[in-house]
Amino acid sequence: MGKMFCFQCEQTAGGKGCTIQGVCGKTANTANNQDELTCELIGLARAGYHGKRSHTADELIVDGLFTTVTNVNFDEDSIKSLKNKVSQEALRLGGTKPYDFAALWQDDKDIVSLRSTLLFGMRGMASYAHHARVLGKNDDEVTAWFYKGLAEFANDHTVDEWLALLMEFGQINLKCMALLDAANTGAYGTPTPTQVTCNIEKGPFIVVSGHDLRDLYMLLKQTEGKGINIYTHGEMLPAHAYPELHKFAHLKGNFGTAWQNQQKEFINLPAPVLFTTNCIMPPKENYKDRIFTTSVVAYPSMVHIDADENGKKDFTPLIEKTIELGGYTENQHQTGINGGDKLVTGFAHGAVLAVADKVIAAVKSGAIKHIFLVGGCDGAKPGRNYYTEFVKQTPKDTVILTLACGKFRFNDIDAGEIGGLPRIMDMGQCNDAYSAIQVAVALANAFGVGVNELPLSMVLSWYEQKAVCILLTLLSLGIKNIRIGPTLPAFLSENVLNVLIEKFALTPVTTPEADLKAILG
Ligand code: SF4
Ligand code: SF4
Repeated sequence: MGKMFCFQCEQTAGGKGCTIQGVCGKTANTANNQDELTCELIGLARAGYHGKRSHTADELIVDGLFTTVTNVNFDEDSIKSLKNKVSQEALRLGGTKPYDFAALWQDDKDIVSLRSTLLFGMRGMASYAHHARVLGKNDDEVTAWFYKGLAEFANDHTVDEWLALLMEFGQINLKCMALLDAANTGAYGTPTPTQVTCNIEKGPFIVVSGHDLRDLYMLLKQTEGKGINIYTHGEMLPAHAYPELHKFAHLKGNFGTAWQNQQKEFINLPAPVLFTTNCIMPPKENYKDRIFTTSVVAYPSMVHIDADENGKKDFTPLIEKTIELGGYTENQHQTGINGGDKLVTGFAHGAVLAVADKVIAAVKSGAIKHIFLVGGCDGAKPGRNYYTEFVKQTPKDTVILTLACGKFRFNDIDAGEIGGLPRIMDMGQCNDAYSAIQVAVALANAFGVGVNELPLSMVLSWYEQKAVCILLTLLSLGIKNIRIGPTLPAFLSENVLNVLIEKFALTPVTTPEADLKAILG
């Protein structure tokens, strides 16, 4: 028996589970504190589900689940403090005890697999609900389902009942993604296609990582006119496409690539980095004095910027550090992993559906033979160059829709155009998977067929729990033949995987050549 157990992400040790220390850098103590927090959350949800809910409990459940997502929070003290708040609120709502820690990952292996899938999906959905909430958007049906889902974790169900719950959850997650889409576009406008440079200007600058647009907005306001430039990193890249963020002249470009390269890319960086959400990795000695965290993200001894009671954040320590570091003394030419120095983002559903007539006509005329959705997470394990090679090998009469940080494998490639549209269209963050669904449904309606009958194939990469909730939503919509890689989730037992293969023809990726041949014939 190991000192901890965690198998929630793609890089889990030996493809089975981290038992000594997380491959992500999470210590056994942190992992166990996160498990205890999860047990308290189940206790709180049961109290609220069977009795009264509270506003405090609503927020604690969402933030507690988000805290346990991979690469979000490595800080035992903040996890313990959250756990205590959850425990007190559960008692206040009449709860009696948390879920049994020893039983969290123990049971029949198919049941553990199914209920873990639900838990991990809810962790992903919690991140969406959190981002929507800080922009003032809540959906009571979504909030209520967090109570239901966590309470169900403690109940006995047959395999079929668990599968039905997973499909019900997929539909709720669709609502939550729609909520976040409305929150982001309501606050910052409809994304429009926008070119972003990889080059970095001399002088003081800040790199902003993660997904939270509101944090970026607050920082842009507080740095306006101060001679400081702001660069996005990783999943923050699509922020450039939102009119209310793009209008800031000092939002200059994008620094670096996807999260797993940060320990190399931040070496000797003459600027601080703000992590608004995942994915933070254990900082190297060389740059650990310039990492700032906020919201649910935390890392021991890094500076954390909290919101006040009105949700406002004071980024003064970050701004002072920026001035102290001073930035580069000369302009820097930087590129993506394939050597390109320009990225284009902003093809969210608003932009794609605005040219839907063009796309439909091109599909009807045969100018576009096939549409691929190549999206999802990037990651550190080998094998992810599959996605670069896949995109490079797609025929010129095909279009690639993409989203999330896996796109950094190919988003600097100039793949040309079809009918005035770029062949590679970036729909946004993993948080914008809603856009891909909207486009697929709109195309299916336009052609009078189901999504499965479209000339559309989904080739997804997964790493952590947001990918789990997105996959469950796609399956709950009846979407079949999804290819997933680079490896299958360790938490899917053989039997559960077989059910998913049988019902949804879920397929592991093989090689780009073989998969393209299987798709295109
Ligand atoms: S999050 Fe992933 S790498 Fe980290 S402990 Fe869990 S399974 Fe291991
Ligand atoms: S796509 Fe996944 S792996 Fe990438 S930053 Fe978002 S959550 Fe993390």
